[in-house]
Parts: sequence; C-alpha cells; structure tokens
Amino acid sequence: MIQLHSEHDIQEHCDSSPTPLVLVPTMGALHEGHFSLIRKAKELAGEHGKVVVSIFVNPIQFDRAQDLDSYPQPIAQDLQHCERLGVDYVYTPKSEDFYFEDRSIEVSENSLSSLLCGATRPGHFNGVCMVITKLFNILQPTAAIFGQKDYQQLAIIRRLVRDLSFRTEIIAHPTVREVSGLAMSSRNVGLSSEELSLAPAIREGLLKARELYASGEKSTDRILSKFRLHLDRRAPLSKIDYLECVCADTLQALTEVDRPAVIATAVFFGPVRLIDNIVL
Ligand code: AMP
Repeated sequence: MIQLHSEHDIQEHCDSSPTPLVLVPTMGALHEGHFSLIRKAKELAGEHGKVVVSIFVNPIQFDRAQDLDSYPQPIAQDLQHCERLGVDYVYTPKSEDFYFEDRSIEVSENSLSSLLCGATRPGHFNGVCMVITKLFNILQPTAAIFGQKDYQQLAIIRRLVRDLSFRTEIIAHPTVREVSGLAMSSRNVGLSSEELSLAPAIREGLLKARELYASGEKSTDRILSKFRLHLDRRAPLSKIDYLECVCADTLQALTEVDRPAVIATAVFFGPVRLIDNIVL
C-alpha cells in the first residue's frame, strides 16, 4: 500500500495503474461501513485493477467551524485498516495543497441541495460536489463507491456525473448497520450509552413506516406518522430535525407514494445528529 499526499504523485500512480481503478472517497475515521465499501471496491477492481481510498476532511463542506474542528482524525489507525483490507493507494491531501487560496471557480448544485439535509446546512452539498469533482479529475477513476446511508449525497453525485459528463461509474452500496439496526457512522461515538441504546428507534420507525406502505397505505402523512409515533414512544427525548417522504430521483416531497420513493430523516440524540433512510 502506498500513501500519497501530493496531487502530482497520486496522479502519476493512477495514470500508470492498470484498470479498473476504483475509488472510495472518505473523510477518515473509518468504520465497518467504510470497510464494506472498500471490500466492494476490491471485488470490482478484481485481480488486476487497483483500489484508491481518499481520506480528506473536506473543510468546505462543513457549515460549522466547531463541527470541522471536532471531526475525528485517527489517521494512523485508518492507514492500518486500509493496509489490512488490501487498498493499493491512500490519497491524503492537505487542505492547503488541495484548494487554491484564491480559487474562483465553484461547483454548485441548484435543485436537490436545498432539500432535506441541505435545508439546514447551506453550502454543504456544493462543498461535496467540489471535492468529488476534483477527486474525479485528479484520479480519473473507472468507478467510485458511495454509501446509501447518505442518500441525498448519492443522488446529488449522480446528478453531478450526469450534468458534467464525468466518465466515472457511480456504485451505490447498501447501508451497513450495527446488530441493533443503527446505521454505522463516525458520529455514533458521540452518543452516550443510553442514547446508543435508544438510537436504533430510527431504523425501527423506518421499518414500521415501510410496513404500513407495504400494506397498501399511500398517504405520506399517515406513513410518516407511524415513524413519529414509534420514535415518541421509544425515544421521547430525541428530536426530529426533518422527516420526509420524497421522490427517489428528484428528492421533492410527496403527498402520495405514487412513484419510487424514499423516507429520509435526521434525528438529534443530544447534540448528535443521526441520518437514515429507507427506500419504498
Ligand atoms: P464519510 O467518511 O462519512 O464521508 O463517508 C464516506 C463514504 O462512506 C460515503 O459514501 C458514505 O455514504 C459511506 N458510509 C458511511 N457510513 C456508512 C454506512 N453505515 N453504510 C454504508 N456506507 C457508509
């Protein structure tokens, strides 16, 4: 495994490497969710291809400085995980080398970004689009893998690739969960033991909502009420940031489930904001 910091060096390695080249973009603090994406990347790369993992806490996608400062960065541990999983290249750029201080070009997404998580995180998805654009241009990966846990991010990246004609194939990977059903996340370490025992209520509520839909209910109000009721009962101190049933492609809120749809939610447990979703 080779760790590279500079754009020039990683580019040289990627340019001369056999295809397919499969990218897993991350912000580090790697957990079982990321491992699963990396294993998938290994499988796609096959015997001859290469896997590159980028580890970069992208400053421009954070809307709160405190959130950025407190983001965990156990780089030595992350590198050990990558080595163990058979990653070929780990790209760890430094922020000051990655972005020009006087950069004047931005990538902005103007439809899906203001919804769901974007409503309370202005600029977040433009920051994501910018980092992914640069990574795709630097590395020229054949394919890149993204987790379905971040459903909105995945939908926006599919738009980015479509609208800007990137040639990287986007692969979606199912959400990896704890045995309790809680979606794995770097943020879970911030939960108290009591919160940790209550947070699986999010997944349970989503499953109950989907059961109601499967039984024939089409009204999103009634479907979402099922979720609210469950969360109120199981975790009354949690606070829903948003809860919506949206079109799987445009992320526009639906009143009736009359097309492929997703229930997406963000819930606060204390200061920790957890997201999850379920496809209907
Ligand atoms: P992050 O480091 O949080 O930016 O995540 C890097 C990638 O890992 C993104 O594509 C995430 O969607 C994905 N990811 C994070 N947690 C999970 C999970 N529990 N299951 C599947 N993918 C995940």
